[in-house]
Amino acid sequence: MEECIFCKIVNNEIPSEKVFESDSVLAFQDINPKAPVHILIIPKKHIKSIASESSEEVAKELITVAKQIAMDKGIVGYKLLFNVGKEGGQMVDHLHLHLLSGKVVELL
Ligand code: AMP
Repeated sequence: MEECIFCKIVNNEIPSEKVFESDSVLAFQDINPKAPVHILIIPKKHIKSIASESSEEVAKELITVAKQIAMDKGIVGYKLLFNVGKEGGQMVDHLHLHLLSGKVVELL
């Protein structure tokens, strides 16, 4: 998707602080962190949200990566969050899983 900022991050058209990368998944630091640890885990393929058809398999992969990142970084307690749709606080229409740890501020 040409206008999607997360697709642009995947294509290295916008810089990001990468945490993890595989053939299908990318994780990077949130540019405006809402907690001391705030990492976004996204599929490289453009999928709008968790409400999109057949997103479950991809969601499972994102969760697996989140768990791995938490383990690798020694993050003991954390939250995993999917915002779904504008009314659900989703500002970027590219499926992403928030990995948050520490005190969370201004969660929509
Ligand atoms: P959401 O509200 O669930 O759509 O979350 C989108 C998240 O993407 C927010 O926490 C933003 O701070 C984050 N974000 C937006 N643009 C960028 C960017 N260029 N690099 C990293 N994170 C971003």
